[in-house]
Amino acid sequence: MKCGIFSDEEATISHGDMKPAAVQAMEQPIGTRRLLVLDDEKDVGATICMLAATAAYEAEHTDDADDFLGKVVAWEPTHVVVDLQLSDRDGIEVLHQLAKMECKAAVIIISGLGGRVLDSSARAATENGLRLVGTLSKPFSRAALQSLLTANAPETSPGQNSSSAVQPLTVSERQLAEAVRANAFVVHFQPKIACANGALVGFECLARWPQQDGSMISPDVFIVLAEQTGLIHDLTRRIYDCALAALRQRLRGTELKIALNLSPINLNDKAFPRWLLGRCREYGIPPSQVILEVTETASMENPLALLENLTQFRIRGFHLSIDDFGVGYSSLVQLARLPFSELKIDQMFVKTLSDSEESRKIVTAVVGLGSSLGLNVVAEGVEDAWALDFLRDVGCDEAQGYFIARPMDRTAAAAWSGRASRREG
Ligand code: C2E
Ligand code: MG
Ligand code: MG
Repeated sequence: MKCGIFSDEEATISHGDMKPAAVQAMEQPIGTRRLLVLDDEKDVGATICMLAATAAYEAEHTDDADDFLGKVVAWEPTHVVVDLQLSDRDGIEVLHQLAKMECKAAVIIISGLGGRVLDSSARAATENGLRLVGTLSKPFSRAALQSLLTANAPETSPGQNSSSAVQPLTVSERQLAEAVRANAFVVHFQPKIACANGALVGFECLARWPQQDGSMISPDVFIVLAEQTGLIHDLTRRIYDCALAALRQRLRGTELKIALNLSPINLNDKAFPRWLLGRCREYGIPPSQVILEVTETASMENPLALLENLTQFRIRGFHLSIDDFGVGYSSLVQLARLPFSELKIDQMFVKTLSDSEESRKIVTAVVGLGSSLGLNVVAEGVEDAWALDFLRDVGCDEAQGYFIARPMDRTAAAAWSGRASRREG
């Protein structure tokens, strides 16, 4: 049978030539998986259903959006496939409606409109809280569809923090002030490696606020409050002290670097560069082994003060990194004019490397830009081997992300680092 939706090399489907993924799926309990397809090309819908049936799905298709939405309610499919171009309305409208209905099905988006449109639709779907498993550009291969049908959809929506150790919640200024006074914060360490050979190059230090029940409050919750209330000055000193003390021995006699996050508000504290230099001297850590990561924000409204403050750190020998590059306020002008020595590509582009053509182009361009300005380029948010290979191929210097290691407490980081040194031999 000839199927117009599949790419040429795999244009024919028969039950006899099923791929291992589908065979595996058949071994899973039947009856638990129901696939509903919305596509105004009836033969496309029928073909997807036929393939899904060989992968142990009950499958139905329709070319009518209202019929589709009705069936989502009545039949409760576990998976839905939505084509973006429909005769009566567009797929975005349907996805929006699915989100409003709080549809829990795993979603696959298909289209013949090309990668950029698919990427934007995928973003719209996930930002609406749908469980997207992936997108397929028509014509697609049978294997590509099979792999999406057998993949697990993420359980969390993108707004949620994917680190299991961290619980988002709100805190009051009083609670935060008490915690700063009591020195209640700890630091977790996330390794950074060289893309070229996988060697450990250092650690980023990330603040955590442990709770009595063993959970941790995320820095996303308390850093902003600390910035708004002025507590950031004391908090930063405590976190830096803890991180420098923990890593001083590991750094000694090596070229490893410790990366610390610096709030732009800290830059208004004229005594801070001297304080930091003093702590580094005390711990025997040369400033050349310290990287300060600054995320640009709207609070950097005074470009001259920013230039002066950042330059003071560079004069003392610290490295400066522009964090989360590519989103928010970071701009090419700032990059060229401020004394940064490193650029950290935002994880938003890195996490999506394997399935977004747009992200691949942006990352390739940013690596080229950073390298041509003589900056050390780091990609954060590396979540799979494919991304790491891609980064190495495009010449990115360093990588950080869950695929390499999650942020760990001091003991786990020491063990990880010991294993890494033995591997590097
Ligand atoms: P950041 O500096 O960009 O740090 C990277 C964040 O990405 C960390 O979140 C880290 O856990 C997370 N991450 C690392 N690899 C992956 C990955 O592969 N996938 C995903 N999904 N996430 C990954 P965390 O620890 O929650 O920190 C959030 C932000 O809070 C940091 O972003 C930083 O801006 C701020 N922050 C953390 N510690 C401090 C601190 O001591 N001082 C200041 N001023 N800000 C801090
Ligand atoms: Mg950072
Ligand atoms: Mg970052």
